Amino acid sequence: MVTQKPLSYPPRVNLAHLPTPLQPLDRITEKFSTPHGGPRIWVKRDDLTETAMSGNKLRKLEFVAGEARAQGCDTLITCGGVQSNHCRTTALVGARLGMRVQLILRGEFEGIPDGNLLVDQLAGAATAFYPPREYFSDLEKLFEHWRDFYAERGHKAFCIPTGASDGLGIWGYIAGSEELLANCRDRGFVPEHIVCATGSGGTQAGLTLGCQLLGSTARVTGYAVCDNAEYFQQKVREDIRHWSSLSGNAVDESALSINVNADYIGPGYAIAEEPVYRAIAEAASLEGLLLDPVYTGKAFYGLLQELHKGTYRDCQNLVFVHTGGQFGLFPHRENFPFLL
Ligand SMILES: *Cc1c(COP(=O)(O)O)cnc(C)c1O
Repeated sequence: MVTQKPLSYPPRVNLAHLPTPLQPLDRITEKFSTPHGGPRIWVKRDDLTETAMSGNKLRKLEFVAGEARAQGCDTLITCGGVQSNHCRTTALVGARLGMRVQLILRGEFEGIPDGNLLVDQLAGAATAFYPPREYFSDLEKLFEHWRDFYAERGHKAFCIPTGASDGLGIWGYIAGSEELLANCRDRGFVPEHIVCATGSGGTQAGLTLGCQLLGSTARVTGYAVCDNAEYFQQKVREDIRHWSSLSGNAVDESALSINVNADYIGPGYAIAEEPVYRAIAEAASLEGLLLDPVYTGKAFYGLLQELHKGTYRDCQNLVFVHTGGQFGLFPHRENFPFLL
């Protein structure tokens, strides 16, 4: 590994409570890993970045908000599903910084706001709902429409892509990987594996690039919750290229190890089957850890299956990044009949 000059980070608004804790999951390890010769499982508690702004999106939005402010913007526009954690975090970040927020939401308003959508509305974000077909085919136009809408009213809007996953947002997890590796060092180990849920690719891109830049040998694996492995191979690479062109830092692309496990997507994005809900209950009852059915629960279920298969045999320490998402659990309340 060639020694690199220290990274110089772009403007950042400090909003997250950092560093987040790194905790061992010893009852999970004993039940699901040790019997198959697997590693000690740790969790990086990025659900604790903040209470309402909880989760991975806050790390990215610290850099996005820094850039938006540097450009003199007073409005944030972003997009996602009706239960988007990213939209909820953006709504709260905007409120905290005194910026307007416009959300472009995929799906229908069901009449009573729940989960993340309730928080969006409490935070005062403006919400516009679009049927999925229109949303997917016209997303760029919708951003333009809303940017013009605010410009006509004298506001300057900053547009944030899905999940804040681009060359700017991934700074959040370059910094996050620096923090995670320091946590591990403090606990006296070097992680061989880092696992996270992958939805728009930015978290995985930041962790992958961060580990490479910092000379870590940890293998980062994203457990996809939508799309497919090829899509994320490309998306992660694209975000890293974008980062390189924005920041002027060179990246050795041939050395990038982009690992995607797409075997646990199940029926589709935000649709989970009973084993995922059971894994959520296991994490809560064994470790007091709250996962969600869209991202962390699905990825965690996948991780337990891979431990069972012996995929992580002969490795000492594996870190699961808890990327948040708790608010998305409650709209799935009807999927836990086995608890009754
Ligand atoms: C958005 C999200 C992810 C996925 O992160 P990406 O950077 O979009 O891949 C994982 N977990 C939770 C809870 C999320 O909200």
